[in-house]
Amino acid sequence: LFGDEEHKVLILGLDNAGKTTILYQFTMKEVVHTSPTIGSNVEEIRWNRIRFVMWDLAGQESLRISWTSYYSSAEFLILVVDSMDRERVGLVKEELYRMLAHEDLRKASVLVLANKQDLKGAMSAAELSGLLNLTSIKSHRWQIQACCALTGDGLYQGLEWMSNHIQ
Ligand code: GDP
Repeated sequence: LFGDEEHKVLILGLDNAGKTTILYQFTMKEVVHTSPTIGSNVEEIRWNRIRFVMWDLAGQESLRISWTSYYSSAEFLILVVDSMDRERVGLVKEELYRMLAHEDLRKASVLVLANKQDLKGAMSAAELSGLLNLTSIKSHRWQIQACCALTGDGLYQGLEWMSNHIQ
């Protein structure tokens, strides 16, 4: 069942959101497999016999410059959000809707990771969902998942959702 198919995933989000930590968590677990030859910001992860090729666009100002070649054929976007960073939720929202409007991403499913749930005062997934107005999104499949990249809590529920939404 889809055993050898490759599924392209883009990990996006503002600086300091936890993108690198999340990619690290995904690749260091026993259940996953990483390919060291691909490159430092690209990792291959196997989950439920599905190969996710994850591109961490960290440090590239993600959508502010043209990353069209990276967008093309991406099936999933993982938007990592620092749930402590209330000041920049507006900026996150801007990025999100800019992504959703991008032609090359029209078929992509969106997983929002409400990261840093271990910190006191972090926005809950429900609160963040409201601030990002996720229920208004009709053009893409989406899901929001609370997580803590430091412990890995919630990350596998995210992967599980992705593996259930392979198109
Ligand atoms: P990136 O810029 O999006 O790649 O973010 P990083 O992965 O480099 O993380 C930015 C900072 O946030 C680092 O100091 C991480 O240790 C910290 N961080 C990431 N995830 C979590 C989390 O779930 N909880 C806490 N408390 N800190 C986190």
